[in-house]
Amino acid sequence: MEQHKILFVDHTAVMGGAELSLLDLATAYSQTSKVLLFKDGPLRDRLEKAEVKVSIAQASETMLNLRTSGGLNSLTTVPELWNIAGHMTQEAKGYDLILANSQKAFVTAAIATLRGSPPVLWYLHDILTAKHFSRINRMVAVFLANRFAAKVLVNSQATGKAFVAAGGKEELLEVVYNGFESQKFDIVAIQDIETIRSQLGIGNAPLIGLFSRLSYWKGQHILLDAIKELPQVHVILVGEALFGEQEYVFKLKTLAAMPELAGRVHWLGFRDDIPALMKACDIVAHTSTEPEPFGRVIVEGQLAQKPVIATAAGGALELIEDGINGYLFPPGDAIALRRLIQKLISDRSLAETIAQQGYINAKTNFSLETILVSFTQAIAQCQQS
Ligand code: UDP
Repeated sequence: MEQHKILFVDHTAVMGGAELSLLDLATAYSQTSKVLLFKDGPLRDRLEKAEVKVSIAQASETMLNLRTSGGLNSLTTVPELWNIAGHMTQEAKGYDLILANSQKAFVTAAIATLRGSPPVLWYLHDILTAKHFSRINRMVAVFLANRFAAKVLVNSQATGKAFVAAGGKEELLEVVYNGFESQKFDIVAIQDIETIRSQLGIGNAPLIGLFSRLSYWKGQHILLDAIKELPQVHVILVGEALFGEQEYVFKLKTLAAMPELAGRVHWLGFRDDIPALMKACDIVAHTSTEPEPFGRVIVEGQLAQKPVIATAAGGALELIEDGINGYLFPPGDAIALRRLIQKLISDRSLAETIAQQGYINAKTNFSLETILVSFTQAIAQCQQS
C-alpha cells in the first residue's frame, strides 16, 4: 500500500515521551514524509540518524515559551504565529496531511489551514485538565480542534475523555496508543546488566527504577518516601529536569541525603540505554501524582520483563490489570507503594509471574507494528472524510 505523505510538526526538539512517539512514527514514514521542528535540539539528531528528513522553522523564545494564559502578552506573538503558519504551509506543499504532535504545533497548524495547508490532524499527548493547562489554554486548543482538526488522535482513552470534558467533539477522536519494539529489550546482553549493577556498587540489593524527567508531578519523592523504611532497597532515578524545575531537583536531593536514604538513591541523568537499565532493576516504578496521559515507561517496564507498579490513574489503567500483569496504587500513597514493593521483593515467584504477564500484555497490545496499523487506519479515514 502506498504510504501517506505526512508533514509531522512539533514545537520542541527535547526528548519527551511525545517526541519519542513522533520518532517512531516519522521513522516508519521516512520514505514519504518529513518533520518540521520549531527549534533545533536532540530530536533532530535522532531523526536524522533514522534517515528522516527534518527542517527547522526557528521560532522565537517568546513564542516557544508562550502560555495562552499570558493574556495580552500573547497578542505580541500573533504576527510570528501567522508567519510560522505560512512557513508550515509552504513546507506542507505536496504532502497529504499535517500531523501536529504538540499543542503549540497544533495551534500553528490550525492557522496554517487558513493559509491553504493540507488537512491537519492533532496527535494529542496531554490530559487537558486544569492542573496542567489554564482555562483559556484549554478553550483555545479545543475551539481550534473542533473548528480546524480533521481528526484528533489521542494516546489513550483517558486523554480522549479529558478532551471531551473540555468541550472537544467526541467524533473527532481516535485512540492511537504508543507502540514499542520488544526486540530492543530482548537483545540486552547479560554482561550489560551486570556492568550496570556493578557500577552502582549495590551487590544483590533489590533495585527499583524510576524512569522519568524530574518533575513534581512525576512523583520521585513518593518513591523515596516509600523506601525510607526498606533499608535494603536501592533506587535509580533516570531522567533529568527537562523543563526547568530545578527547585524540585534541589528538594529531591535534600530528601535523598537524609540519613535513612543516604547512599541508596542513584542519580543517572538522562540516558539512552533504557532497556538495559530496566533489565538491571527488580521493579520498575511509575509514581505520577496526576493522571498520566499514556505512561510509556509502564509498557517499557513490562517489555523488560520486570514487575511494574504504577499510579492508578489516567492511561496507566489501560496498561495494567491490577494484580495480574502489574500493580496499581492510589496516586501519592507512599505507604501503599511501600507495601507493594515489600510484597514483590519478598516473593520472587510472584514477581516473576507478574513480569511475564506484563511482557505478554505489552507484546500483544503495544507492539510498534500493531500501533502503526492503527495509525495508518486513522489517517486513512481522515483522508476519506
Ligand atoms: N526516557 C529516556 N531517558 C531517560 C528518561 C526517560 O529515554 O533518561 C524515556 C522513557 O523511556 C519513556 C519516555 O522517556 O519512553 C517518557 O515517556 P512517558 O510517557 O513515561 O512520560 P512523558 O515524558 O511523556 O511525560
